[in-house]
Amino acid sequence: PTTKLPKVGTTIFSVMSQLAAQHGAINLSQGFPDFEGPEALRERVTYHMAHGANQYAPMTGMPSLREAIAEKVERLYGCQVDVETEVTVTSGATEAIFAAISAVVRAGDEVIVFDPCYDCYEPAIEINGGICRHLPLTLPEFNIDWQLLKSSLTPRTRMIIVNTPHNPSGATLSKADLDQLADLVRDTHILLLGDEVYEHIVFDDQPHNSLLTHAELAARSFVVSSFGKTYHTTGWKVGYCIAPAPLSVELRKVHQYLTFSTATPLQLAIADYMKKDPHYTNELPAFYQQKRDLFCALIRDSGFSFTPAKGTYFQLVDYSAVSDLDDVSFARWLTVEKGVAAIPVSVFCAEPNPSMKLVRFCFAKGADTLNQAGARLCQL
Ligand code: PMP
Ligand code: GLN
Repeated sequence: PTTKLPKVGTTIFSVMSQLAAQHGAINLSQGFPDFEGPEALRERVTYHMAHGANQYAPMTGMPSLREAIAEKVERLYGCQVDVETEVTVTSGATEAIFAAISAVVRAGDEVIVFDPCYDCYEPAIEINGGICRHLPLTLPEFNIDWQLLKSSLTPRTRMIIVNTPHNPSGATLSKADLDQLADLVRDTHILLLGDEVYEHIVFDDQPHNSLLTHAELAARSFVVSSFGKTYHTTGWKVGYCIAPAPLSVELRKVHQYLTFSTATPLQLAIADYMKKDPHYTNELPAFYQQKRDLFCALIRDSGFSFTPAKGTYFQLVDYSAVSDLDDVSFARWLTVEKGVAAIPVSVFCAEPNPSMKLVRFCFAKGADTLNQAGARLCQL
């Protein structure tokens, strides 16, 4: 009774990164690059700090950054958004997600998430008195079970959270999936939260099917992204949320008192860089696909089995031919004894299936790191 979030402990990302550091393991657990973002981008931060951009940004975000975001979503997704009323810059996608959920979820409202599910949704739902309903994705492809979703909707369903490309599986939603979703929510009051932080990391020449590409869905969606993933700057914590004006009004009521605004020089630097090199994001899929392919080639002859990720910078692997341990124990063992840290997948599931033996590796690493990790993983 003294805690509002009895189920919440320390996130697996902190736990595994700490364990990796403690044992000197190669850290392929928490998702972050071990290389720098574009120098021209980082220089703009220094420039703006040296030139007086050190006070509060406007609550909704620097106009130049909101304009660059609006230009991007029109160019990539054919979605016209109003810079003043529909784009809000936040302190990371995490803040945008928390603000969106807090803005619309009332006590007793149900929110549907799909397991395995990124870990920041449920605490945000529960601290607002909402009820988090976990629906399992269908293995092996981690697809949404539309029949199950349909039968799980109730008059209390307030929101459905979709994450594409999906962390941890790398699965992506197809155009047909978006149509299915539209069919299910039509004539309801259900809102959508699209966690699209890996929007620019989709492989094999496939498009990213953003909720913003689908006018009917966009009209009821908060769509969230993060510059941390796009520019290899996870430590900057700059993200944004796009939502129709009435939803953005509500989102901003929370954002205004949660953080008020986001670091000014970082926003200006990102805006400058987006303007200077708008096609940077076109090169990102090939950049990360090469890393995915290298990592997959390195572990091809290991005991792991896997299907190459369709997006994100994570690769899931099945270790059942290597060990009988449960995934949490296996990830610890791998870190402590074999010197490679990974994330167990069961921690993203409300009702983990004990026969699911999966761990997640982050391949957003330089070739040396991946080669070294690959060599260790092949010795298991
Ligand atoms: N959603 C997903 C699926 C993520 O993987 C992350 C990453 N870290 C976030 C949200 C949070 O992004 P940010 O670091 O910008 O808060
Ligand atoms: N999103 C990152 C991951 O999935 C971690 C973010 C965090 O550490 N909070 O690994």
